[in-house]
Amino acid sequence: MMREWHRRWPLAALTGLLVLWGTRATADNDAIEARMRKDITFLASDQCEGRGPGTKGIDLAAEHIAAAFAKAGLKPGGKEGSYYQPFTVPGGAELKQPNVLRLVGPLGQEIELRHGVDFQVMGFSGSKTVSAPLVFVGYGVNAPRVKYEDFKMLDVAGKVVVLIRRVPRWNSKELPFDKEKKDQHAGLLTKQALAEANKAAAVLLVNDASDLPGGDKLMPFSYIPGSSAIPALHVRRSVIDPILQSSLGMDLRDIERAIDRDLQPRATILAGWTANIQTSVVRKTIAVKNVIGVLEGAGPLAKETVMIGSHYDHLGYGGPGSLNKKPNVKEIHHGADDNASGTTSVIELARRFGAMPNRQGRRLVFMTFSAEEMGLLGSRHYCNKEPIFPLADTVAMVNLDMVGRLRADPKTEKDKLIVEGTGTAKSFNKLIDELNNGTDFQLTKKAGGTGPSDHDSFYRKKVPVFFFFTGMHPDYHRPSDTSDKINVPGMRRVADLAEKVVANLATVKERPEYVEVKGSFTPGPGKIPRIGIIPNYEEDKEGVLVGGVADGGPAAKAGMKAGDVIVEVAGKSVANLNTYMVLMGQQQRGQPLEIGVLRDGKKMTLKVIPQ
Ligand SMILES: [Zn+2]
Repeated sequence: MMREWHRRWPLAALTGLLVLWGTRATADNDAIEARMRKDITFLASDQCEGRGPGTKGIDLAAEHIAAAFAKAGLKPGGKEGSYYQPFTVPGGAELKQPNVLRLVGPLGQEIELRHGVDFQVMGFSGSKTVSAPLVFVGYGVNAPRVKYEDFKMLDVAGKVVVLIRRVPRWNSKELPFDKEKKDQHAGLLTKQALAEANKAAAVLLVNDASDLPGGDKLMPFSYIPGSSAIPALHVRRSVIDPILQSSLGMDLRDIERAIDRDLQPRATILAGWTANIQTSVVRKTIAVKNVIGVLEGAGPLAKETVMIGSHYDHLGYGGPGSLNKKPNVKEIHHGADDNASGTTSVIELARRFGAMPNRQGRRLVFMTFSAEEMGLLGSRHYCNKEPIFPLADTVAMVNLDMVGRLRADPKTEKDKLIVEGTGTAKSFNKLIDELNNGTDFQLTKKAGGTGPSDHDSFYRKKVPVFFFFTGMHPDYHRPSDTSDKINVPGMRRVADLAEKVVANLATVKERPEYVEVKGSFTPGPGKIPRIGIIPNYEEDKEGVLVGGVADGGPAAKAGMKAGDVIVEVAGKSVANLNTYMVLMGQQQRGQPLEIGVLRDGKKMTLKVIPQ
């Protein structure tokens, strides 16, 4: 795939680099490893609290990085002469007043309910005032595989839907409800997304019978985070029972038994009943910051930029990204490998390049990102909203994420290093092979430049990327990812190779030529049928923006293109990635389905066969 590549080292770079990585003495390596060990030990210490956005610990980490950049001779690259680029990320919700639920019956009877006693606003609720007819949608489950589809029974658009928690036959071992997807159907956010996709005005959730022995308790507001546009209220069964009784002649228990028996949905309108709802939920934000230090270039290439990056945030005390075996226990997730290791390496590279006198070539921007674990938010912010150095003049981005666990392949006894992005510029594949000469890693190369770390944000802006990674391990996203498990000499050797790469990128005369690597489509092992798109995680848009289409995949065959916005799946509206995943989860592999997309503002329908 790569073309023949020729390179001449500029003399200045050559002499400087020979000293650094040609003939560096062991004593020097010891000293370097000692300072790297110091950095990673601090960044992964209890004091830094797992570097969760919003903690004091992550700010201590940011201060540590900024101080190291300053000491290395980097100038501040952030706002107002600082090393920081501040931005905000979603930070949960706060419940305000008032929160009202008033039910009005067919005879004009009014039932005013008490917040915190009869009902409770749920943490993912939207903030809205709604007055709409009440309908009952059973469990609020769509499970076509087992031919149980509550939402198919009636049009809930503009209605307040009452639905039961979990799924039919929840505790039945003999006759489990759709046993493969039971938990997925039972998810509260799944139900909320389905209600939203069917254009419901609000959701009233009641506990299923399995909660009765516990006293039909209401979930606290903070129980499930998330964010929905429509109100979501948890309501006691005693509120809904008389309404069902008067409308249908059955109470909840009767209906649950009936559904359990024949697995037939019992969705129905509740004639004459209206709900008046007001919810007051304020979505909070957390202030975070990227840390940026700059070494200006010199000579004819000085106006171009090479970015060297890593994320310095981690999971803090746990939360959605955690794989802790005790999911509800708050424990510091130290994130030594993920990604104090990459951050330590970026600091180390800053020191080395900062120490080169009269360095010639491109500007080097050293940047540690925040909120990567929340969905690459720091690098997204930089690339999509506030690129301090023009991306058009950014010739490459080198990302280090999880480089602290270098291990040997037991067969070859060679240390294994994963390098991604080798196909993102014409020269990269050959370049990395050449530079690996002497370092002698066993490279696992991947051509593509997309993936679950910050280089992805740059590659989507057509910046060629390199991504260094020493591989997965059982401590990944667990509190046990600690600094004592880091292979510090290995991390230093990865930094040595990254240094050679950066030195080349900083000085190579012709800027690397961007290549669009076509993804190849492989049906996933997951349970959700796939159509071969890469969604673009833009939060503030309705629908799902298609960032890329895998070659030969179902979406490509149907004519879908990058830039399309998916707004409908099988006739249901797609509010966001969550509703998209829920709706796709209900499709069958091999069954054609219609997907509505917006292209240049025009709606069109594509027939896709998911795999
Ligand atoms: Zn991570």
